[in-house]
Amino acid sequence: MEVPGLERRFRERGLRRTPQRVAVWSDFADHPGSTIREAAARLQRAGIGQATVYRAVRALEEAGLIVRFAAPHEEVRFAAVLDHAHLLVCERCGHVEPLQECGLRAYEAELARRSRFRVRGHTLIVYGLCPECQESP
Ligand SMILES: [Zn+2]
Ligand SMILES: [Zn+2]
Repeated sequence: MEVPGLERRFRERGLRRTPQRVAVWSDFADHPGSTIREAAARLQRAGIGQATVYRAVRALEEAGLIVRFAAPHEEVRFAAVLDHAHLLVCERCGHVEPLQECGLRAYEAELARRSRFRVRGHTLIVYGLCPECQESP
C-alpha cells in the first residue's frame, strides 16, 4: 500500500522505512483507535508477529507517526498520523472518528508567529460520548 507523503515522513523523521513498519502504520490508519493487540491480531495474517508490532509501534510513536490515547479503564489506543490529525474519541465505547476538516489553521499560524516556533503540525483528540452512547443509559 502506498500512502502519499508517507515515504517522505519516514525520511524526515529519520526512521528506516521497512515493510513491517509501513504495514503497522497502515493498519492503524485503516483502523484508528485500535489497541496493539487488535492490530497484532490482524497483522498476524500478514505474517507479522506481535513482538514486531510492539517494536514498530514504539518506533512509529517516537517518530511522531502514530499517536496514543486512552479512554478511562481502557487499553491504550493508537491512530496513525502524518503531521495532522483530528480524532473524536468516545470515552465509553472507544469509537474513534477521524475528522477531515481543520478549524485550526489560523490558530496554528498565529501561534507560530507569537511563539516563533516552527510549527510542523498538530494532533487534536476530542473526548466525549458518541451519539449511540448518549442514548443508552
Ligand atoms: Zn460510544
Ligand atoms: Zn487541524
